Amino acid sequence: MTCCRCGQAAKAPVLVRRIETISGPMRGNYACLPCGRWFGARADAPDWLKRDLLARESVR
Ligand SMILES: [Zn+2]
Repeated sequence: MTCCRCGQAAKAPVLVRRIETISGPMRGNYACLPCGRWFGARADAPDWLKRDLLARESVR
């Protein structure tokens, strides 16, 4: 899995953007954890992304 922001290989990819499709599998953009946090800090970050990042913090 490659990060959609920095292009580096992401060991623990974070789903940062969901692309809803009417038919077929759900697609999305993945980022590495540092870039995932960057996406999560944005004003337009979706709630599910913030929850995902918070869950990762508590595991570590
Ligand atoms: Zn990245």
